[in-house]
Amino acid sequence: MKVALVTGGSRGIGRACSVKLAEQGYYVLINYQSNEAEALNTLAMVREKGSDGEIIKFNVADCEATESAITAWQEAHKDEYIEVLVNNAGIRRDQIMVFMTNEDWRNVIDITVNGFLYVTRALLQPMVRKKFGRIVNMVSLSGLKGLPGQTNYSLAKGGIIAATKALAQEVAKKNVTVNAVAPGFIRTDMTKDLDEAELKKQIPANRFGEPEEVAAVVGFLCTKEAAYVTGQTISVNGGLYT
Ligand code: NAP
Repeated sequence: MKVALVTGGSRGIGRACSVKLAEQGYYVLINYQSNEAEALNTLAMVREKGSDGEIIKFNVADCEATESAITAWQEAHKDEYIEVLVNNAGIRRDQIMVFMTNEDWRNVIDITVNGFLYVTRALLQPMVRKKFGRIVNMVSLSGLKGLPGQTNYSLAKGGIIAATKALAQEVAKKNVTVNAVAPGFIRTDMTKDLDEAELKKQIPANRFGEPEEVAAVVGFLCTKEAAYVTGQTISVNGGLYT
């Protein structure tokens, strides 16, 4: 059994990644924080692809909860290991800096940056021991370019881009790759409050992207054929200047 974990797999881009990995023959662990109904919908979509999986609830920003959920899974599946990890869980809490609250600053960093540590560290040793692993971090155009109103989010995503490069060098010899995917504007719950008609004028492709278009790149990065691609950040943004 080939096993993948997708954090924030209940909705949006994480759901599309779960379905893509199911198509590629993975048993998918669909992580979510609170929305069990949507996590179960993702699981049904995974099954429609002829694969299987399970939902796994934990808040990636909670170290203890994350480690205990992952350890419990590992203890119950001693013959398996999670060979693919998509660090996708994320939130936006936009505000210009003069009005930024400590809470919005910390929450974004806790989920994106600390969550990346807690989940990845828990899965890394088996990948290294088995000499195969694929880690994909969902970052953002905001982490490459910086976007006004998103100092918290740009910081967090930019930090993960740097951490992707660093970790890639730590584990490359063990055939574990670490890459990032940087979406531009993708049609999900996270962007439903944005004015697509206005924003699409800036996008050469003249539209928002679909979650499946991001998942296609994630899927490739998780294949054996992508073994020599590591430490990279691949943009999926319809040609938006970065
Ligand atoms: P979304 O539709 O809002 O979905 C967010 C997902 O993350 C949900 O599954 C949610 O779980 C989960 N989540 C949030 N906080 C969590 C936590 N603390 N622990 C575990 N799971 C958590 O977002 P999306 O647009 O698909 O975004 C997915 C990723 O892509 C994010 O990292 C985001 O920053 C990045 N991204 C998105 C865009 C875009 O345009 N949409 C662009 C660039 C980057 P529940 O369902 O349980 O709430």
